Amino acid sequence: MHQFTRRSLLATTAAGLVARSLPACAAPASFKHDAFEVTVVSDGHLVLPTSFLAPGAPPAERASLLQAAGQTSEQYNSPTNITLIRTGADLILVDMGSGDRFMPSAGKLWDNLKTAGIEKANITKVVFTHGHPDHLWGAVDELDDLALPKASFFVASAEWDFWHGENAARGLPAERAGFVTGARRNYAAIKDRVKMLKPGDDVVTGLRLVATPGHTQGHVVLELAGGEGLIIGGDVLTHPLISFQHPEWRPNADHVPDQAAETRARLLDRLAAGRSKLIGFHLPYPGLGFVERKDGAYRFVPAA
Ligand SMILES: [Zn+2]
Repeated sequence: MHQFTRRSLLATTAAGLVARSLPACAAPASFKHDAFEVTVVSDGHLVLPTSFLAPGAPPAERASLLQAAGQTSEQYNSPTNITLIRTGADLILVDMGSGDRFMPSAGKLWDNLKTAGIEKANITKVVFTHGHPDHLWGAVDELDDLALPKASFFVASAEWDFWHGENAARGLPAERAGFVTGARRNYAAIKDRVKMLKPGDDVVTGLRLVATPGHTQGHVVLELAGGEGLIIGGDVLTHPLISFQHPEWRPNADHVPDQAAETRARLLDRLAAGRSKLIGFHLPYPGLGFVERKDGAYRFVPAA
C-alpha cells in the first residue's frame, strides 16, 4: 500500500494543495460525471530524481518552486493516478500503471482496485495515453501474460508507431533504452486485442482521444463529454506547481521538449477557458481539479 511520508504530507499542505488526499490506499475517489461514474485508483508512486524537474530553468526561480513543493532533497515522490470509467456495460481503464518491473513503490493498481471492491476481471476496455513504463508496463504480469486477458485495448497509432520505429531506440537517452524494450514487450502482449485510434476518435461514445504530442511523440489525453467536460490528462501536466506556473519549463521526461511546451500551453489555455475538470496522472492523489489563470500563468485548484 502506498503511504505518503510525513514530510510529503507537510509539503503538500505547505504548497496549498489538498491534504484530504493523504492515504492513496484508502477508499478511492469516485464521482459522477454526467452519465459516467469515474473512479481514481492509485498505482502507488514513483521515486524520481528532483533534477528531472525542469533542469534548464532559472536556478533561483526553480529552487523557490521546489521549496514550495517540499522537494528540496535529491529525490521526490510522484503520485500515479489511474482513472476508471463506468458507462453502460463497459468498465474502462485509462492506463495500466507500472506493473512489477519498474519501481517497487509502484505497481499497486490491482491491490488497490481489490481493496476498493472492483474486480479487475470486469474491466472491458483499456486505453493508453502513452507508452512510458508507469502507464503501460502493468499490461503484463511477471510471466509476460496479459493482466486483463479478456479486455480490448486502444492505442493511438502514432504512439504505437513511435515505439516500434527506429527513432525510439535512437532518439532516447541511453539510460532510457529499457523503455523501448519494455514498451515493445507490453505492446506485443496486446497486439491481437488492440485497436489503433487517431486523435478525434471515440473509445466509446463520450470518451474521445485528443492529440497532445510532445511528452511522447503520440501522446494523447482523453476527453470525457458532459457538463464542462473532463480531461484525463496523462503526462501533459505532471507537477502541481511547475507545470502550471511555468508551462514553458522543460521537464526531463519530455521526448520533444518544444512541442511538449506548446502542447502544455494549449491544454492549460483550454482547461482554464472551458472550466473543464482535469485528472492529472502525477498530481497529488486523486489529481482531480480545475485550472485557473493566475498572474499571467495558471494555477491548479484541487476539487473540493
Ligand atoms: Zn507518467
